[in-house]
Amino acid sequence: MGYSREVYDSAKTKLERRRTDAQTRASNLRDKMINKHPRIREIERDMASAAIRVAQAVLDGGDVDNAVEKIKTQNLSLQAELAELLGKEGIHAPNFEPKFTCPVCKDTGYTNRRMCECFKALLREEAFSRISYMGMMKDCSFDSLRLDYYSTAPDSGTGVVPRKKMKEVISFCRSYAEDFDLQSPSLLLRGATGTGKTHVSLSIARKAIDRGFGVIYGPVQKLLHQLEKEHFGREQGNSEDIMLECDLLILDDLGTEFSSTFYISCLYNLINSRMLDGRPTIISTNLDQNELTDMYGDQISSRVIGTFVPLTFIGRDIRQISARDKIQRTNSF
Ligand SMILES: [Zn+2]
Repeated sequence: MGYSREVYDSAKTKLERRRTDAQTRASNLRDKMINKHPRIREIERDMASAAIRVAQAVLDGGDVDNAVEKIKTQNLSLQAELAELLGKEGIHAPNFEPKFTCPVCKDTGYTNRRMCECFKALLREEAFSRISYMGMMKDCSFDSLRLDYYSTAPDSGTGVVPRKKMKEVISFCRSYAEDFDLQSPSLLLRGATGTGKTHVSLSIARKAIDRGFGVIYGPVQKLLHQLEKEHFGREQGNSEDIMLECDLLILDDLGTEFSSTFYISCLYNLINSRMLDGRPTIISTNLDQNELTDMYGDQISSRVIGTFVPLTFIGRDIRQISARDKIQRTNSF
């Protein structure tokens, strides 16, 4: 995937910061330790002179092997002495080598002239974070989902108990997130406003990101608006490529955006292309099947209805219940 210059520069800056931070931490620690144990400076000096002493032994002739062996033994004992000194100070490292985030490339981003996996991951993270609305994720996780916001009283029409039903739905979604991979199915989260669809979507996103997958999450309106700006040249970027190629695309609140021919064709392209490529997508919406067809036409609705696993969210508006809870708690102080 190609990245914009901005994304590349930003990832490179982060990498450089990692490297210099690791070097600074190591150098500060060394200064502190030398200050406390001046013997460390002598140990370092003796170890550094080993190469010269080896060269000298060769020049001097005689029993070179024996001389080299002796220097080696001395060096090992110096290393052990340094490690012991550091150990006494609670530092469990043999020396003052910087501890890089990526030991493979030492935070340079390249190994054997090839881009290191850590740099690729940073580029992906950077590109995704520019498109996604992950700021909304801060408090969203499966652990912060409150089942007690769902009623235990059966629905008068269907007889379904919201809390029981939602326990099953949430448990399914939790397993989906924990086991997510590129073979996972696409999901259609359906239900009225405030029944927890966004919270669950964000919790899945968080879990999948923590497990190393590239996830784009966003309210449909905002994601499509971004594509529109780029398509008509008002902004530069390759958001469409990223939305097509990310491991998991989460389109939240489908049906609340302004309807336009451009938006519908973007949506069709995203859903259809990802489906053909076998990439999972999650859509949340409060539209039923007929409304979905009325708003987007058969092409989109038949793909979504035919290939996405449907999950129905029920209950009263948990956002209102949560807000009421907060007010009651505040009043009780
Ligand atoms: Zn690396």
